[in-house]
Amino acid sequence: MTGSQEVAATAVDNIDSLVTEILEHDYADNEVSLGRILCGKQEMQVVLKVVAVRESFIFDEFEDLTEFGQVIEKQDCDHDWENMGGYSQCTYSHCQAVKNE
Ligand SMILES: [Zn+2]
Repeated sequence: MTGSQEVAATAVDNIDSLVTEILEHDYADNEVSLGRILCGKQEMQVVLKVVAVRESFIFDEFEDLTEFGQVIEKQDCDHDWENMGGYSQCTYSHCQAVKNE
């Protein structure tokens, strides 16, 4: 592994605790520094960030589940549905499940 890959690999050890902290403390996001890498003279910090608010998601290639009207059921949430106009979304930030009207 390169040094960069070794730093990135520590994400595996950090991901579960970040997610747990979001759920238990109702954070909108959570992040941790995995370490610093030196590429030539350029120092970079590698950060693992978990985002629980859809509006804060960076663009990705994953399907937008709301677009397809799929319900994401969270087992440990007694949803508090809010009408978003056309669909309903659970207001709990740890859940944000979506369902069609
Ligand atoms: Zn919910």
